[in-house]
Amino acid sequence: MTAPRPLVAGNWKMNGLKAALGELKAIRDAVGSGGAGRAEAAICPPFTLVAAAAEAARGASLGIGAQDCHANASGAHTGDISAQMLADAGAAYVIVGHSERRADHGETDAVVRAKAAAGIKAGLTAIVCVGETRDQRVAGKANEIVGAQIEGSLDADFPATNLVVAYEPVWAIGTGLTPTTADVADMHAFIRGKLEKLYGRKGVDIRILYGGSVKPSNAAELMGVKNVDGALVGGASLTCADFMGIAGVYK
Ligand code: PEP
Repeated sequence: MTAPRPLVAGNWKMNGLKAALGELKAIRDAVGSGGAGRAEAAICPPFTLVAAAAEAARGASLGIGAQDCHANASGAHTGDISAQMLADAGAAYVIVGHSERRADHGETDAVVRAKAAAGIKAGLTAIVCVGETRDQRVAGKANEIVGAQIEGSLDADFPATNLVVAYEPVWAIGTGLTPTTADVADMHAFIRGKLEKLYGRKGVDIRILYGGSVKPSNAAELMGVKNVDGALVGGASLTCADFMGIAGVYK
């Protein structure tokens, strides 16, 4: 049994004007010259930059993704973007169920599952985010919460090849705080067990990313944990130096 190929994905959130494409091109070039080693690398810029980023990365080894999609392929949903549109713009990944979307837009597990299904149907790889809040962890409910999110946000019919799960403890996002490596190992083993239950042997190959305050200084330690198959990176993905400092652990 071989471990899945790691994925280091950057989530630019609501950051980046056209000028940020310079940074994206620097990442593209650094990945192209082997800076991410054996890892797959991707950047998920805001919707407004997806097409231009995909154009800049065309033929290169850097993948481009988006940070959300609508569950429907088209229709009367003012302001929304479908997974088909993202694929048409050149995206290969879509993040769904990020805790900021769950909190800011009231996205339930059922909504997240429908979005993941739409992304997969459009040929994208869905990066499905799960994670507990600080209070939930302190109350000893982290596994219960994440387990319910996994069961509610994934479908046993999803093709395992187009599915990535990102464990992002909400309290670690953008705070500089990270769980202990023992806590990361426990949670990733728990998620692996859930994936094996849902997908059988294919569950072993589904990448489980860790996300939450990953930076060059802690990446090697976090990426070295069993069942951590890469990272979902927020703030530190905005510069080539920091992103490559993380992806570079796979060299
Ligand atoms: C994220 O929002 O997906 C994230 C992991 O953010 P940060 O790396 O900034 O904590």
